[in-house]
Amino acid sequence: MTQDDMNNDIERVLYSQEDIAQAAKRVGQQLAQDYAGRTPVIISVLKGAVLWTVDVMRYMQYAEVEFIDVSSYHGGVASSGMVDLVVDLQTDIKDRDVIIMEDIVDTGRSLQFMKDLLVKRGAASIKVASLLDKKDGRVVDAKVDYIGFDVPKAFVVGYGLDYKQLYRNLPYVGILKQEVYDPEHVNVVDVTSEH
Ligand code: 5GP
Ligand code: MG
Ligand code: MG
Repeated sequence: MTQDDMNNDIERVLYSQEDIAQAAKRVGQQLAQDYAGRTPVIISVLKGAVLWTVDVMRYMQYAEVEFIDVSSYHGGVASSGMVDLVVDLQTDIKDRDVIIMEDIVDTGRSLQFMKDLLVKRGAASIKVASLLDKKDGRVVDAKVDYIGFDVPKAFVVGYGLDYKQLYRNLPYVGILKQEVYDPEHVNVVDVTSEH
């Protein structure tokens, strides 16, 4: 990195720390209401959804939390179209109510892959709570039930979302400057994937 301040790599802040805290509260309280009397299994999608998961689940009642990792991006800024299971669940979800917690749904391929897997394993119900819904990016029909924000079709980072594993710890979500990932724009970083 040629810059020593992550904030300088951000073109524009889309959702502030306060906006996100409010969204987490709204979604968490809605889930608490909708799952009253049940104990759902939250399936948090590594690594991006971790911050969103912990903030949302604070507003919920009884809930278990599990982690899964699927990979479709392979380190770049455009979807490869292929989805792999990288880290599997540690529990049997047969007959359980599951809530997939995502950072962002773009093409919908990752979500569809996970939904198919959970259906195959006999989940009683499957709902999706995503911080961001990039509806314009959708390639397969994958519905998000609980949405933090509808996000425009741009590459965003922060609050869990990365570019090459960086920027996850920004407290807000913002659009990454093109020069950070486009070598023709300004020769700042190498975009070739090592994944
Ligand atoms: P999908 O399978 O829906 O195309 O992609 C889902 C995954 O792609 C997300 O969980 C996320 O890891 C990555 N992704 C999609 N759009 C963005 C984006 O704007 N910024 C970042 N950092 N990751 C994204
Ligand atoms: Mg994700
Ligand atoms: Mg990523």
